[in-house]
Amino acid sequence: MYIILLGPPGSGKGTQSQLLAEQLSIPQIAPGNMLRSEMARNTALGQQVGKIVASGELVPDEIMIAVIQTRMQQQDCKSGCVLDGFPRTISQANALNEAGILIDYVFEIVVTDTEIINRLSKRFVHLASGRSYHLLHNPPQQHGLDDITGEALVQREDDQEETVGQRLRVYYHQTAPLIEYYQNLAQAKNCITQYIKINGHDSIQDIAQNIMSFLSPMR
Ligand code: AMP
Repeated sequence: MYIILLGPPGSGKGTQSQLLAEQLSIPQIAPGNMLRSEMARNTALGQQVGKIVASGELVPDEIMIAVIQTRMQQQDCKSGCVLDGFPRTISQANALNEAGILIDYVFEIVVTDTEIINRLSKRFVHLASGRSYHLLHNPPQQHGLDDITGEALVQREDDQEETVGQRLRVYYHQTAPLIEYYQNLAQAKNCITQYIKINGHDSIQDIAQNIMSFLSPMR
């Protein structure tokens, strides 16, 4: 089962895709986490993309498509995966299509800009796993520490206020066109893709239940 979570930064894609991947026993593919891991390890790719990620711009399509295609060719993705942050452009969506990957569900998580800015300014992440916390709404059990590993949480460089504005602009300009792209695809004859809008203002548990309620056990 191939699932795409679509939505602006801070809409809860990361949290929901992690829960969904656990429930369905398929991998979560989160390009943002993959890039941050490359940056932390100072690999050639990490050096290539570091400045771009920090500025809130998108990494060029040809790089991102190659990274995700390589990841999706691995054995653990053969029966599906949850895509959290890919595709982010029409070219990336076309690349998935051309690779013959049929998307079962696209969940668009809808959240207002005001809520996004509020969430990202109070978001702390565990870099190695991608787990994220909100200081007020989803705090870690121990202040500043990841619940699972006990390792330190950090604030992402691109969650700073000026960069958040840039990421939102990039989202509306380059990623939001995918809403129409997948809505049209879902309406096409004989297409298996289902397009579903989810209210991203509900609690984490309610959103997770809402998403699960759409997944047909027969597919
Ligand atoms: P995220 O963790 O999903 O918010 O992604 C963090 C950053 O990684 C983005 O602001 C981009 O710079 C880069 N990135 C993540 N996914 C993509 C993608 N599909 N295409 C291009 N750049 C991406």
